[in-house]
Amino acid sequence: MDCIFCKIVDGQLGTELIAENEHAVAFWDIKPLAKTHILVVPRAHTKNIAEITGAEELAGLHSLIREVAAKFTDGQFRLQFNSGELEGQTVFHTHAHVLSGRTV
Ligand code: AMP
Ligand code: ZN
Repeated sequence: MDCIFCKIVDGQLGTELIAENEHAVAFWDIKPLAKTHILVVPRAHTKNIAEITGAEELAGLHSLIREVAAKFTDGQFRLQFNSGELEGQTVFHTHAHVLSGRTV
């Protein structure tokens, strides 16, 4: 499978990880839509957030979202999971957008 986020998780693209845990990794979005724009990506491939059912994986994802929000925002942020092409999803490996600061 040719999945760009699987490659980032595997370290194949040399993307700098700004935080990680057993279940997820976090890195800067390459085209930021806010002052702070981080992607938090589960290590295991699923297409979107609705496909994840494992409690441990969800807890790991949530924990990393909390960690980057605490470290890189002032505690105020938006969390977005685009799910499906018509809803703006372009990379079909589950990811959370953590956005903070309304302007670029
Ligand atoms: P979405 O439209 O919700 O699927 O979001 C995909 C996001 O991934 C977009 O905001 C892209 O800018 C971002 N993106 C795509 N490729 C990379 C990459 N190699 N490194 C960092 N962010 C990326
Ligand atoms: Zn993938």
